Amino acid sequence: MELLTAMREVSRLASDDVRFERIATDILKIVGELVEARELTLFVFQGPEHKLVPQAQRIDGETLFGPRIGPVRADVEQVRQAVEHRTILRSVEHELLDILLPLTADQEPLGALHLSVPIEGDATERTERAELIEGVLTDVASHVSLAVKTAALHTRAVMDGATRLYNKAHLMTTLTDEMASARRTGASLSLVMLDIDHFKLVNDTFGHPTGDKVLVELAGQLKRNLRRDDTAYRYGGEEMVVLLPGAALASAEGLAERLRKRVETRKFRTAGRESIDITVSVGVAELTDAMKGPEGLIAAADEALYAAKNAGRNCVRTSGKKET
Ligand code: GH3
Ligand code: MG
Ligand code: MG
Repeated sequence: MELLTAMREVSRLASDDVRFERIATDILKIVGELVEARELTLFVFQGPEHKLVPQAQRIDGETLFGPRIGPVRADVEQVRQAVEHRTILRSVEHELLDILLPLTADQEPLGALHLSVPIEGDATERTERAELIEGVLTDVASHVSLAVKTAALHTRAVMDGATRLYNKAHLMTTLTDEMASARRTGASLSLVMLDIDHFKLVNDTFGHPTGDKVLVELAGQLKRNLRRDDTAYRYGGEEMVVLLPGAALASAEGLAERLRKRVETRKFRTAGRESIDITVSVGVAELTDAMKGPEGLIAAADEALYAAKNAGRNCVRTSGKKET
């Protein structure tokens, strides 16, 4: 059971955006089967720094994301060159063809697709086969690009680029849906809101870039500690929200307390060798009948968070007990 849970955690760790994953999975499957590739890796520009990052990989019929992606037979520099010069890079080594296919949509570079395809025969046959595959890929490139662009646009719309958590706009959409579903089925719904204590002091002491890194680390820690159905959002500057469908107040409080403790005992890194101690204050609320829109539940968690700050910080407070 533990192994199963661990595996599920690993795969959800990788899962930044479900819709992106679905589209990427389909793209890699279709293209992979088309040219009988052994391995495909999708590189996409990511984040405010526009870094080329491998985002999805298909090996042996399985699609991997994020940290599960294995080594690629093309380095980022080669990928960058293919993208920059908008040319297909092709090389044949023994019986393996490596191809880098740049992806662009509306003049905008999106990334590239790397493929390793086994090819057989003598030198002439292999060259012919390689040219044929390159031709096929040239033909499908614009379709693949469009699909990748659709996926990337969705990711950009729902995610905070810096922390890779969902953004506030997406919280409001999801929360509206989850509230409707909870009311329809009678299931519980809780919301956890956390805010870093004296974060201004971290910025003032270690500098804003270090503060940014702390935020990214905290976001990662948050994601690693969630159950399968929970989702984490960046609500504001240094405020994060976790939405827990199916969780009543007590179990949400349990999660909040676990998170608080994890943060308290964890050392955050600075650029140098120093480590920073961070604490968070946490507010927890459960959906009640009296709450109108999503703002009602958020306000209740926010009030509880305020109470936690007033109680001296580094603690959890709850609100919104369900009336029966
Ligand atoms: P409190 O314990 O009351 O929450 O104190 P605080 O200093 O955390 O709270 P306050 O609201 O006064 O300040 C929040 C700080 O968070 C100020 C702002 O500079 C910092 N902050 C917000 N967003 C970011 C960010 O994206 N990066 C960095 N480095 N700092 C941020
Ligand atoms: Mg704040
Ligand atoms: Mg704060």
